[in-house]
Order: sequence, then C-alpha cells, then structure tokens
Amino acid sequence: MIANRVAIIGGGYAGFAAAVTLAGAGRDVTVFEAARTLGGRARRVEAYSATVDNGQHLLLGAYAQTLALIRTVHGAGAEHELLDRRRLCLSEPGVFRLSTPDLPAPFHLAVALLLARGWSWADRQATIAFVRNLRRERFRCDPALTVGLLLDAQPAAVIRALWEPLCLAALNTPIAAASATLFLNVLAASFGAHARDSDLLLPRVDLSSLFPDPAAAYVADRGGAIRKSAMVNGLEARDDGVILRIGYSEEQFDAAILAVGPHQLTHLLRDGKSGGERDPRSTLALRQVAAFAYEPIVTVYLQYPTALGLEHPMQKLDGAPGQWVFDRGQLDGPAGLAAVVISTDLPSIRVGHDALAQSIDAQLRRMNPTLQAPTWMQVIAERRATYACSAGLARPAPGMIAPRLSLAGDYTDPHFPATLEAATRSGVAAAQALLSASA
Ligand SMILES: Cc1cc2nc3c(=O)[nH]c(=O)nc-3n(C[C@H](O)[C@H](O)[C@H](O)COP(=O)(O)OP(=O)(O)OC[C@H]3O[C@@H](n4cnc5c(N)ncnc54)[C@H](O)[C@@H]3O)c2cc1C
Repeated sequence: MIANRVAIIGGGYAGFAAAVTLAGAGRDVTVFEAARTLGGRARRVEAYSATVDNGQHLLLGAYAQTLALIRTVHGAGAEHELLDRRRLCLSEPGVFRLSTPDLPAPFHLAVALLLARGWSWADRQATIAFVRNLRRERFRCDPALTVGLLLDAQPAAVIRALWEPLCLAALNTPIAAASATLFLNVLAASFGAHARDSDLLLPRVDLSSLFPDPAAAYVADRGGAIRKSAMVNGLEARDDGVILRIGYSEEQFDAAILAVGPHQLTHLLRDGKSGGERDPRSTLALRQVAAFAYEPIVTVYLQYPTALGLEHPMQKLDGAPGQWVFDRGQLDGPAGLAAVVISTDLPSIRVGHDALAQSIDAQLRRMNPTLQAPTWMQVIAERRATYACSAGLARPAPGMIAPRLSLAGDYTDPHFPATLEAATRSGVAAAQALLSASA
C-alpha cells in the first residue's frame, strides 16, 4: 500500500501530532475538523473581553513528545514565550506547601518531602519511605490496582494534601477507581529521571495557538490542507483507498488516521459502510471504547477588577468547591482573571452555572477578602473531558486498525492517562504505523 494522500479526521492535539509527522515525512495531508476552532478538547474560546480556553490546562516537564512538537512548529527557542516553566510547587496557603529545590533527581523530591510544610514528622517519614519503595519497584504494580489501594498505608493528611489532588489533576478519576499503573507512569515520568521533568508548565498563550494553529501552518507550508467546520460523517476502507463522506460529497484518500474522541469513534465507524467484513482490530477497538465511562472537568473564569495577589500563578484550593486556581494575569492574560478548576463528577458541580460561579467567587474572597466583586464570570463545563482512567480498563493501542486506517487519540496511549502528552504520543505513533505499513 502506498499512502501518499492521507486524511486525518480530528484537529485536536492527536490529529495535529499525526499531521506534523506525516507532512514532515513528505506526505500530502488533509486534516478534517468538525469545529471552526482547532484544538478539540484543548482549544481557544472567546469569553466577554478575554480569550480563554475551554478548560485551564497544565503541562509537565515530562511531556517530551508535546514539547518536541511545539519546538518543531514554533522553532527551537520559543518555549519560554509560550510556556511559564517553574519548578514543582504545590501550595495551599496556611495548610500545606511542597516545593522541589534546585537539586538533581531523586534528591529534589526527597528534600521536597523532607521539608514539606503542614505535615507531621511521621507523615513525612511515611511518605519518603513510600516513594523510596515505589522507586525500588520501578513504579510498577498490578494493573488491576487502584490508586486508593496503592495509597492504603499512606497517612490521611498526605493523601488529602498531595496524592488525591495529584491523581485528580493527572487522571481526572477518583482515587477509589483510578488506575495505579497510569498514576505511577506519571510519577515515574515526572520524578524518575531528570529533576526538570517535574516542572510545571503553564501556557502563556491560548491552547489553539500553543500547538494546533502553528501545526496547521506547518502542514499548509508543506502542501497540506486544513478543512475546518468539516464533519466526516462516515468512511469506507476499500482495497484501493479510503472513501470519506463529508456532507453530501465523497472524497478518496490512500489512507486515513482517525483522531477523534473515543465516543466519536463509534459514530464514525458505525455509520461508515464497511464494504465487507470489518477488520477484527476495528471491532475490538469499538468494543473497548463502548465500555468507557467519562469524567467532566469544569473551569470557571472570574474577572476581578484588580490583580489576584497570588504568590504563584497556580495554587491549590480547599476543594469547596474549587480545587485549583490559576492566575491568568501572571500568564500574560488580563490582570485579575482567575481560572478555577474542578475535576471529576462531584456533587458540587451539579448545580446551575450561576450558583457554581457565585460559590467560587465566595471561595476566592474567603482566601483574599480584599477582592472586589468580579466584572464577569463564565463557567465552561466539559462533560466528557476525559475517559475515566480506571484500573484494569482495556483500551485500544494507537496504530493500524484496518489495512488503510490508523487510530490515534489520547485514549489509545498505553503509558499516559488522558492528557495532551497521551494525545501527541498517540498521533506520532499512529502516523509512524501508517508510514511503516505503506513503506
Ligand atoms: C477541561 C479540560 C481540562 C484538561 N486539562 C488537562 C491538563 O491540564 N493537562 C493535560 O495534559 N490534559 C488536560 N486535558 C486533556 C486533554 O485536553 C486531552 O487529553 C486532549 O486534548 C485530547 O486530544 P485528542 O486529539 O486525543 O482528542 P480531541 O481533542 O477530542 O480531538 C478530537 C477532534 O476530532 C474532532 N472530530 C470528532 N469527530 C469528527 C468528525 N466526524 N469529523 C471531523 N472532526 C471530528 C473533534 O471536533 C475534535 O476537535 C483536559 C481536558 C479538558 C476537556
């Protein structure tokens, strides 16, 4: 099979990781994106007087693939203009603080735990012993183990201040159900090798400008095409190519990469005429995604008249109801713009948007009583933000699911939970699988 003309369905981080890889390898790429804005679950949104995102995102120093692609499309020296990078510091003022010093790994973490504020000496010792044991076990465990069981012997104060918030932020899944294997993969990637892998990277630009928009320009510069507002309604993989149905028209390509969300895959493949027996790999992928559950993430933007006065651009909250606050004013956004995040399906988000925004405003003003009333507030609830990264969940792998069809998407990466890094890794893997299959 020669795959010169490749269609990529889905213009999120996975789709554009695949597109950049294929365009860089000289293929003629066309990206189809149903929405008007590129980026999928990580995209720019206009809110009142500000440009925000559909959800506040955080990247890690360990996001090697995402950072490499950002360098490819923006140029090698652009990172510091795009991302605020600082050493890991988790703090909830007056309650808890953990920050990694300027030391090589693993001493940076050991010293951070040793000097953590807000824990007893016994809590710190138990946590250091726990992390030492994880390292000894090479951050591996039984795939059926949940994070809750992994943390069984950890002190309640440490679970509450550190592990549970980290698990919610990284896996968007409650610890009682979350996969300990995926959680340990994130810890290993962040703390296993280099000290700067645990850095926190906060975007200074909107999420479409961070990667999908410049990736689209990169593809266009190499002769490719980007089709926005172009919903692919179905596809048919034949011996001589792949037929895509877009509206009332059909277009033929040599091959296609499916880089849609997991719930959208079912629609795409089920609606498409198969033209014969479905490939068992596609059937298995469809069966696996049909068993997925999903978790929401809510981001509440509040514009205050004056600067928020936070010590760091990212700060932990008490969870009543916001979990983290991000100071967009410190990230090249308007002064006084707060983004407050709540992960997973908690009772606190099952209220009207006005009530939720007001309770978050009250929470921020408990923290800083000098804040005046916000000039506007906007709630963005992503109901299917990520698949639930549950222990033992069977998932498809990225790569070929039929002779001319390759699969990408955050839910296919075997290593990382549903994140930008999982998405970009899967996109590159899907593109490489297609290149190998057509070599
Ligand atoms: C609110 C929120 C907060 C998050 N926070 C973080 C974070 O802090 N850090 C982190 O690393 N990750 C975070 N994530 C997860 C991250 O955004 C996702 O893992 C990642 O964006 C998924 O990328 P993807 O390309 O796999 O899928 P998607 O972004 O879902 O892309 C799929 C694309 O396909 C398009 N599409 C679907 N069907 C069709 C069709 N038939 N025809 C054409 N186009 C189609 C969709 O419109 C979409 O643009 C967060 C997600 C959300 C929602």
